[in-house]
Amino acid sequence: MLIPFLLALQLTPGAATVASITVRTANASQRVALVPDAAGPMVRPESLGPLLPVAVTPDAPGHYRVVVFGVAFAVEAGVASTTVAGQVQPLAAAPIERDHQLLIPLQMVSEVFPTYVNNLRWDAVSRQLVIFTRVATTTRQSRLVVVDAGHGGVDNGMTGPLSAPISIYEKDVTLSVAKKLGVQLKSRGLRVVYTRTTDTLIALSDRGRIANQAGGDLFISVHVNAASLDWKDPAAGRGFETYFLAEAKTEDARRVEEMENQSVRFETDAKVSKDDALSYILSDMKQNEHLRESSELAELVQKHLATMHPGPNRGVKQAGFRVLVTAFMPAVLVEIGFGTNASEAAYLNDARHQVAIASAIADAAAEYLRRYERRVSGGDGRDER
Ligand SMILES: [Zn+2]
Repeated sequence: MLIPFLLALQLTPGAATVASITVRTANASQRVALVPDAAGPMVRPESLGPLLPVAVTPDAPGHYRVVVFGVAFAVEAGVASTTVAGQVQPLAAAPIERDHQLLIPLQMVSEVFPTYVNNLRWDAVSRQLVIFTRVATTTRQSRLVVVDAGHGGVDNGMTGPLSAPISIYEKDVTLSVAKKLGVQLKSRGLRVVYTRTTDTLIALSDRGRIANQAGGDLFISVHVNAASLDWKDPAAGRGFETYFLAEAKTEDARRVEEMENQSVRFETDAKVSKDDALSYILSDMKQNEHLRESSELAELVQKHLATMHPGPNRGVKQAGFRVLVTAFMPAVLVEIGFGTNASEAAYLNDARHQVAIASAIADAAAEYLRRYERRVSGGDGRDER
């Protein structure tokens, strides 16, 4: 009976110190609560943020991707291993799902993360996850992505679905997806500025101004599509498409252009006439420089969305969106699905699908910026300091 008694003595004071760990950078720290489980202490990965850039993406039922500083760890609830950089790494305990949230064993944070993420170190004595500043971030600031949630305030955007009680307001879905997109971009080491983070109306021209003032490298506007009532079966229309700014080429592109530009009627101080500066700006060289870049970004967004979205993939299109006109940087407008279609409306309203959509768009932005960096560094070989 002596040994259990001693163990009990050790565990009682120990239990208090095991209840949390600390995440620390050079000038900040935060406590992270551990979640007790029969298999040992667990951590909700998101609770390691914001000091640690981390994002959790559900890939399939029970399957998750945990991205830390751009390094992806694939895990499955109930399976005591993780796959990272093509290697299977055993874990001390299996990750679990509780209330639709992923919990990972503390050992994954203390041993596996520091093994694969080169600026992390675990201090076992003080139970701290120490984050070092990367050399790259001290020589050059990371790229900035401007995330634009379409509509807001009195401008609901589209509502749907057709022939059913309204369950979807575009402005709510775009805000929710935009916030998740921001989290995903940050987890990939990018900086983020939002045009809005609340249910407010922002003039289309101000969205571009916000992007320019922030010095954005990319502009991504998130929207939900609506079928034309002229279609043979409007309620059946579904799928995702990405636009870049240019003159609308097809009747369908003109429909979406007209629909999204209608937001301007909510702007009480809008002095713009119907044809305003759009055609002038479309021919302006400064924006044209970005056309090729924007179309490449749009292609990547479609490519990545196609890996997870039930679709169909409606492809890359071009149209004259006011919201894109004033952003002097590569800019795209993503229609993530049709809120007029009942099953797609339900899909878009689901938080887990929103995370998956955000993750796919973030992958596209990160891939675009990697290509861009290569072009820039290949151009003259100089460091942009
Ligand atoms: Zn819209």
